[in-house]
Amino acid sequence: MQSTVNYLWHTDDLLGQGATASVYKARNKKSGELVAVKVFNTASYLRPREVQVREFEVLRKLNHQNIVKLFAVEETGGSRQKVLVMEYCSSGSLLSVLESPENAFGLPEEEFLVVLRCVVAGMNHLRENGIVHRDIKPGNIMRLMGEEGQSIYKLTDFGAARELDDDEKFVSVYGTEEYLHPDMYERAVLRKPQQKAFGVTVDLWSIGVTLYHAATGSLPFIPFGGPRRNKEIMYRITTEKPAGAIAGTQRRENGPLEWSYTLPITCQLSMGLQSQLVPILANILEAEQAKCWGFDQFFAETSDILQRVVVHVFSLSQAVQHHVYIHAHNTIAIFLEAVYQQTNVAPQHQEYLFEGHLCVLEPSLSAQHITHTTASSPLTLFSMASETPKGLAFRDPALDIPKFVPKVDLQADYNSAKGMLGAGYQARQLAQALLEGQELMLRGLHWLVEVLQTTCRRTLEVTRTALLFLSSSLGTERFASTAGRPEIQELSGPAELRSKLRTLAEVLSRCSQSVTETHMSLRNLSSELVKNRDQVHEDRSIQKIQCCLDKMYLIYKQFKKSRMRPETLGGGQPVLQALGWEATCPRAWLQRGADPQAG
Ligand code: ADP
Repeated sequence: MQSTVNYLWHTDDLLGQGATASVYKARNKKSGELVAVKVFNTASYLRPREVQVREFEVLRKLNHQNIVKLFAVEETGGSRQKVLVMEYCSSGSLLSVLESPENAFGLPEEEFLVVLRCVVAGMNHLRENGIVHRDIKPGNIMRLMGEEGQSIYKLTDFGAARELDDDEKFVSVYGTEEYLHPDMYERAVLRKPQQKAFGVTVDLWSIGVTLYHAATGSLPFIPFGGPRRNKEIMYRITTEKPAGAIAGTQRRENGPLEWSYTLPITCQLSMGLQSQLVPILANILEAEQAKCWGFDQFFAETSDILQRVVVHVFSLSQAVQHHVYIHAHNTIAIFLEAVYQQTNVAPQHQEYLFEGHLCVLEPSLSAQHITHTTASSPLTLFSMASETPKGLAFRDPALDIPKFVPKVDLQADYNSAKGMLGAGYQARQLAQALLEGQELMLRGLHWLVEVLQTTCRRTLEVTRTALLFLSSSLGTERFASTAGRPEIQELSGPAELRSKLRTLAEVLSRCSQSVTETHMSLRNLSSELVKNRDQVHEDRSIQKIQCCLDKMYLIYKQFKKSRMRPETLGGGQPVLQALGWEATCPRAWLQRGADPQAG
């Protein structure tokens, strides 16, 4: 046990370790309140005094819900080490969220927006207080759960960044080089002497890399063999990146650098959000200070996204779901235009259904008149022009199944299990999206058929009335009683008029017949759709995938645990034994799984 005047902790309750300190879960001796205590190690005292106190001073100045709160600065009883008493963040960091196999291909849209909101608000508070963080990365963005179950992210680890003034202190940022601005990278990692001053834009660069990581699950700049293996190429990628590009990769040894101007297809964010986010990433991942956005523009553009509301639109003719981001104060005309940008359906061809009813959207009205939508209850768009069905664009998760190495190696097995699980979660997410799309498709078609059936019924009523009228005016026996009416007698006079009325009656009768036939086929289509819907509801794919995922998760967890235990290093056997799978030859099973052809 260790303690300060007011706090107590067990050294087993280690939350994390950095270059300068260890962080423990502790309790207030009187109230029992949980806190995090950062206990500085001996190496930290080798730093100049002003650097040592900088973190306390910076934290004391700050007070914001997206920045970890400092409660007190105390000293341990025995060794009199300085201790920072901070708000305890119980749900790990953004890095641990991104490390989870479930987020192997990036965060879902809702969680990504929470991250964006929190990071932007926290950074804004830092800028208002004139503070440059200089070590923004997912590991320094802590997470806790709010009372309503939503994530709250908080910036932490202040002070270390200032140490960049001194070459000796680069150690603290050395571990996070993937997120470093190229100027800092050049000096801290490549150790090249340069006189460039690090401006506030270095934080913007790190935010760009962090947001890209959160959106895709991967880093944006990857030399062949990984960022740590080829540092010169890493520097080249970040500095040679053309304007507008948001990622760069080198796929072959000494191969060319390839640039991406869009987020990868595996990214879970909607195209509506991606189209807003990509220009921001392109402008903050800009090495040249003169070309890079300033903070003011970054805040303006990100706030613009965060203030928007999302309208869920399902394009029936194309079978694609869209998120349309608009401002509540926009007009419906702007909404229709935004739909056009995403669907290519011209505003004059857009017709909408909502929960079975035709929905008339008057362009001059405010977008606030648009009904509240959700992913499962979107506005259904059907185009009056002919459209080609597109469906969901996706990458086959089988392509992301890792290669299984034949030799038994715990670390490699852990990586394979993690990669496999990531591909599995991606498969579940895709299956979910496909099933939801199918449901929306069938529901939308069902509504459309109902609307058409109603139109058919009305048309039939009108044609029948017209035929009645014509028949009576032509003086047929059946309707002779109405023929005596003065207005009809007037019309039935001249032979020519009688012949025209007869032709009209024939046309109407043909028309009525074809509407009746359409009505019949719509009725058949409707019962066909009901059958299809039953099939969708009976589909067990998600449950089947989930069942596999639960088993795969156990394997992954066991490898993760065994990886930490030295006695199992170099041997995968305990994992298999623990799962009781040895006799069933899981390796052969896994290897079969590695071959996309074999499924
Ligand atoms: P250093 O300055 O030495 O890098 P950090 O401040 O980054 O140390 O803390 C090290 C680790 O401790 C973090 O990566 C995180 O896992 C954990 N940690 C830090 N602050 C908190 C907190 N307030 N609540 C929970 N865990 C924390």
